[in-house]
Amino acid sequence: MYRRVAIIGGGAAAAALLSELLERQLPQPLHLDWYTGGGNSPRGVAYGTRSDKHLLNVRAASMSMFAARPHGFLEFAQRGDNSIAGTDFLPRRLYGDYLETQVERALERARAAGHDVRVLPFEVDAIVPEHDGVNVIHGEDSARVDAAVLAIGSLPPQPLSGVSDAALDSGLYVTEPWSFLAQAKPDARPRKVVLIGLGLTAVDVLLELSALWPNATFEAISRHGLLPEPHLQHASAPADDSSELIEAMRDEPYIRTWIRLLREAVAQSADWRTVVDSLRPHTPSLWALLPEAERSRFLRHARWAWERVRHRMPPQVMAAMKALEEADRLHRRRGRLQAVDVAGDKLHLDIRRPHGKGIETMDADLVIQTVGLNTDVRRTHHPLIRQLSTNGHATADSLGLGITASAEGRVKHDEQTWPHFYVIGTLLRGTLWESTAMPEIRQQARNLADRLLKSE
Ligand SMILES: Cc1cc2nc3c(=O)[nH]c(=O)nc-3n(C[C@H](O)[C@H](O)[C@H](O)COP(=O)(O)OP(=O)(O)OC[C@H]3O[C@@H](n4cnc5c(N)ncnc54)[C@H](O)[C@@H]3O)c2cc1C
Repeated sequence: MYRRVAIIGGGAAAAALLSELLERQLPQPLHLDWYTGGGNSPRGVAYGTRSDKHLLNVRAASMSMFAARPHGFLEFAQRGDNSIAGTDFLPRRLYGDYLETQVERALERARAAGHDVRVLPFEVDAIVPEHDGVNVIHGEDSARVDAAVLAIGSLPPQPLSGVSDAALDSGLYVTEPWSFLAQAKPDARPRKVVLIGLGLTAVDVLLELSALWPNATFEAISRHGLLPEPHLQHASAPADDSSELIEAMRDEPYIRTWIRLLREAVAQSADWRTVVDSLRPHTPSLWALLPEAERSRFLRHARWAWERVRHRMPPQVMAAMKALEEADRLHRRRGRLQAVDVAGDKLHLDIRRPHGKGIETMDADLVIQTVGLNTDVRRTHHPLIRQLSTNGHATADSLGLGITASAEGRVKHDEQTWPHFYVIGTLLRGTLWESTAMPEIRQQARNLADRLLKSE
């Protein structure tokens, strides 16, 4: 086993790996450096919200941190309230409490077992992988470890192209919705708020700000103007057998064929959700079959539709969105942001309408960019990722989906694979596609813990 391991990142992925490592009976003490980045560890952005309106988009029974104990979170929640069911969508805040409790337990266990765990609330500045170990650098300190794991989640959002510097400087264009929500005040009272993007991030923003600013109206703009689909109140029955569909998809790894096969499968199912959900365990192996041109086609033409059906919202959240529309406070529009600039004390937007129908203009008191997770390593300003790319230690996925890595998470540079430098979580999207939610992350954490503890 590796004796000295560093985990870089302080969110749920790092917490899952830490807990997996410290859960096991080890033949010798482990020296573990956990660089948490100093933020809201281990809650991160997702579980750092204090709002009970922000619900998990995965049912309680599937949110355990541990792949081998899939009901861990449900049992934790039921200790506080035994009326909670596995099919419930619980507040993300409660999941943050669960993460904190598990991390405390893991650290206590580590002390009792004689492991040497250092929790370092810093951002790592640089990582230098070598063939026989990895150097992890923070300020003047450099630590040599046998293996290092990058678990930094997604990258900070970047402003969309077309947003002027004046708009960014005005404070009326919000690029980071999460930090904005944490500080939003009731007395700001903007009348017209425009959201760019209409996925789950937009939904969170709408839930929070529509309550905070009861007189505000919201214009939400996206390519197709559609909200995410809702989950059913009760979990749908699993698909009878998806093996035929998966086989047919494997035989012909072309997006156009896959869409046809999926449409056929949906037409024969009682509920389309069962078809979508049945693909989830097979997504990484299917994704691996797609040539780059097909992946690119998927991103251009099918991603938006896939995200809508795959990343669904709880039914009560859908009801809240409907209520906002019925109250004439939420208007959805189709279009693409073309430009944003300052106009007096407002922002002026140019929106390109679909099907060549020209440009629509509008003014807004506030514009919030809600376009989802950023994994584009090619354009990021994240200092550690820039260092890794600039020094040639990691290679950006060519489609902007993270960093290149092997299927088991070993970071690649050019065509080589580092033997002791790993990545887990969202930055693995280019390799696995499905790599952002806890059901996938906990499995990655388990597999990686096995590898780290078995390795010579
Ligand atoms: C709003 C939202 C809601 C979500 N809801 C769900 C849900 O209901 N169910 C679900 O399964 N998934 C959900 N997700 C997906 C989510 O990505 C994962 O569940 C999980 O939070 C990912 O954790 P992470 O540790 O990979 O990333 P993060 O939580 O982003 O943590 C990354 C950590 O890395 C640290 N860091 C960054 N740079 C450095 C550095 N240089 N050195 C050291 N540390 C660094 C950061 O400070 C942070 O602590 C949601 C995501 C979001 C954004």
